[in-house]
Amino acid sequence: MRLVCTECGQELALATRRWRCECGGVFELAERPRFRPEAINAESFSLWRYRAMLPALKEPISLGEGWTPLVPAHAYKREFLAKLEFLAPTGSFKDRGTTVLVSFLRELGVDAVVEDSSGNAAASLAAYCARAKIRCRIFVPAHASPAKLAQIRAYGAELIPVEGPRENASLAAQQAAQRSYYASHVYSPLILEGTKTIAYEVWEQLGGRAPEAMLFPTGHGTLLLGAYYGFRDLFDAGLIEKMPALYAVQSQACAPLAKVFHEDLAGLPDVPQGETIAEGIRIRRPVRWRAILKALRETGGGVITVSDDEIIAAQRELAHQGLYVEPTAAVAVAGLREGPGERSIVIPLTGSGLKAHHK
Ligand SMILES: *Cc1c(COP(=O)(O)O)cnc(C)c1O
Ligand SMILES: [Zn+2]
Repeated sequence: MRLVCTECGQELALATRRWRCECGGVFELAERPRFRPEAINAESFSLWRYRAMLPALKEPISLGEGWTPLVPAHAYKREFLAKLEFLAPTGSFKDRGTTVLVSFLRELGVDAVVEDSSGNAAASLAAYCARAKIRCRIFVPAHASPAKLAQIRAYGAELIPVEGPRENASLAAQQAAQRSYYASHVYSPLILEGTKTIAYEVWEQLGGRAPEAMLFPTGHGTLLLGAYYGFRDLFDAGLIEKMPALYAVQSQACAPLAKVFHEDLAGLPDVPQGETIAEGIRIRRPVRWRAILKALRETGGGVITVSDDEIIAAQRELAHQGLYVEPTAAVAVAGLREGPGERSIVIPLTGSGLKAHHK
């Protein structure tokens, strides 16, 4: 498999330690596996049932991730199907991408990685690295959530606090990556190969159909883009007639995608990193913003913004139906309020309430 830069088109072997192109562009896979329904391993109840459609790996590092339940729920007098991503091994959907990335890293012979994240991405990486016996160092903003830090530490990862804004932790990790491997959820295209399996699962769980719409809490858009790729694979294989409309839901306080989408800007605008309870999507510069816009436009979806009060109300409404999620995960449900016109809607509940801040 090969990587290709989305900016300058330069190609590179997948087996590289480079995490982005010399020109600063991000990599995607030059070609992606096709979806073949007959190749599904029906005896596997993890996302590795789609192994034939994943990058070829000798031995997956798996904790049983994926194949999450789809259960009926409601909010704002609307029915939807909730995909319980918070039941993943480390409590968030991030495990879908991590299992693929860490399996690849072990095959590449990587014995130490670095990453920057204050939360779920780091917890997920730390868990899979523990499983693969890869040394893991995480650069975290000094103000990160204590429950998430405790989880990361429990897996045996080394935590390095970095003062100042969130970007400082990224810069510190990228610096350290010169002598290690930057196992980034944001930059690695293998992450999207893992997250695409959510689309395959929804399609199987609906009896071989796609929903009319899906809503995602969106920061860097790794779940939204994965779903886009997954449904496009199904579409290309002639298994669905129409792509679901994909909606990115962002916090009003930090909504770069809303601005670039609604104002049809040529470049990503500089937005303030406002305060929001949705810490998992407080992302000023989504690296794959162009690909996200294309996915939204092509599927007839869009961007919805919500306030912290609406997020808290949605989180409470979910809890009153037995679904305990972190505020970031409630963002997409809050988006139903001014939500889309489609009737059959699937919303992934991306992260567990057990490790969130309690207010
Ligand atoms: C990471 C995360 C998100 C956002 O994912 P992106 O890939 O940044 O869009 C949403 N919810 C939870 C719980 C997360 O951990
Ligand atoms: Zn390039």
